[in-house]
Amino acid sequence: MLSVEQAQAEILGRVRALPTERVDVLASLGRVLAEPIRSTRRIPPWPNSSMDGYAVRAADARPSATLRVVDRVIAGSLPTRAVGAGEAVRIFTGAPLPDGADAVVPQEDVDARDGVIALRGTVAPGAFVRPAGEDVREGDLVLEPGRPIGAAEIGILATLGRTQVTVGRRPRVAVLSTGNELADLGTEPTAAQIPNANTYSLMAQIVEAGGLPLNLGVAPDRLDAIAERIARGTEADMLVSSAGVSVGELDLVREALVNAGADLHLWKVDMRPGKPITFGSLAGKPVFGLPGNPVSAMVTFELFVRPMLLAMQGRRGAARPIVRATALTPIVNRGSRRGYLRVVLEARNGRWSARLTGDQGSGILRSMVEADGLAVLQGDTSVATGGEVEVMVLREVRT
Ligand code: AMP
Ligand code: MG
Repeated sequence: MLSVEQAQAEILGRVRALPTERVDVLASLGRVLAEPIRSTRRIPPWPNSSMDGYAVRAADARPSATLRVVDRVIAGSLPTRAVGAGEAVRIFTGAPLPDGADAVVPQEDVDARDGVIALRGTVAPGAFVRPAGEDVREGDLVLEPGRPIGAAEIGILATLGRTQVTVGRRPRVAVLSTGNELADLGTEPTAAQIPNANTYSLMAQIVEAGGLPLNLGVAPDRLDAIAERIARGTEADMLVSSAGVSVGELDLVREALVNAGADLHLWKVDMRPGKPITFGSLAGKPVFGLPGNPVSAMVTFELFVRPMLLAMQGRRGAARPIVRATALTPIVNRGSRRGYLRVVLEARNGRWSARLTGDQGSGILRSMVEADGLAVLQGDTSVATGGEVEVMVLREVRT
C-alpha cells in the first residue's frame, strides 16, 4: 500500500508542463506566471513626498527657524528650482522632491504666513521622503516563474508597463462518468437511476484548479460505449473518469483504458475515503480513474489530480495550508487507513477550531458542501473534544 505522499510523488514525477501563452495582463489573474519578470523601471522614479507639506533641508530645520517658500510642486509636475539655504518648497503627496531638499515637513507642523514658514521642531533627514527605487529598482527580479498571479502581481505588472504576460496554458481535461444507474443533468432519473453528480463536481474542481473541462457525458457500463468516450478524451490534455474502477463485473474502465493503449497503475493508497485509484498515461497524457462515490471522487481529485493540474500549468510550491485546530466534537478515524474527515472550520480570536460535518459516508455529498477542510488522522486514532487535530484547509472559512 502506498502512502498518499508516495502516490502524489509518483504522479508529480510524470508531469509535463504544457506550453505557455501570452495573455492580457488582467486575463492573467489566477494563471501561473511562466516568465521571470525583471524590472526595466525604477519605482518610484525619483524621491517624492509622502505628505502634503514643505520640502526643506533638514540641516536648516531648527525649532522656530523660518524658511522662505520659493516654489510649489504638485504631483504630475517637476520642481523648477532647487531648495537653497533658508528656503522651503511647497510640496504635495507624490510630487518629486526638489534638488537640495532632503526632508518634508508636514503642513500641520508649520505656521505658514506671507510666503514664510516657521517650524516648530527639528526634522530628521529623509523624513516623509519616499526614496527613488524604494519599491522596485531597475534590474530587480520582481516575480519568479511558477507563481500564481493575484491582484498584487497584476498591480506590479501594470507598474512595470506590462500589457501582456506569459502564463502556462490551461489544461483541457476530459471528464467521463460511467454507470448504468446514472441519469445526466437535464434528464429525470428513472425508477432505477440516480442523478450524475461527479461530472459536475469534477468539472468545477477542474475550473478551480485552472483547467478547462471537456464533458464526455455518461457512458453506460459497456466496453464499446466507454471506449468511444475515451477516444474523444484523447483530444484533451488529461482524462479523468469516475466510477467503474473497482473489481466488480461491470467495472470496465480499466479494461477500456488498457484496450485503448493506456499504461496503467492501480494503487492501493493508504487513505479513506478513496478506494484504489487508477493512474496512468494514454498517448502521453495522464489518465485518472477515480472512485465513483461522490465524496471519494472529490477527495481523490483534491489529493491527486489537482496537484498535477497545477504542475502542468507550471505552478511551483503549491500546497493547501495545514492548520492545527481544536476539536469541538470527538473526531474518530475508524479502520487502519489514514482518514480525511470532513470538518467545518472556524477561526476565532486567532485560533482554529474544527467539528465534523456529520456522517462521513463516502456517498454523502452534503458533507463536502459543509466541509471547509479535511482533518487528517492516521489509522485507528481519535481526537477527543478539546484535543488538537491537523486540518487541510480547502476554502475561506467563517470567522
Ligand atoms: P462504482 O465505483 O461504479 O461502483 O460506483 C460507486 C458508487 O458511486 C455507486 O453507488 C455509484 O452509483 C456511485 N456513483 C458512480 N458514479 C457516480 C456519479 N457520476 N454521480 C453520483 N454517484 C455516482
Ligand atoms: Mg459503477
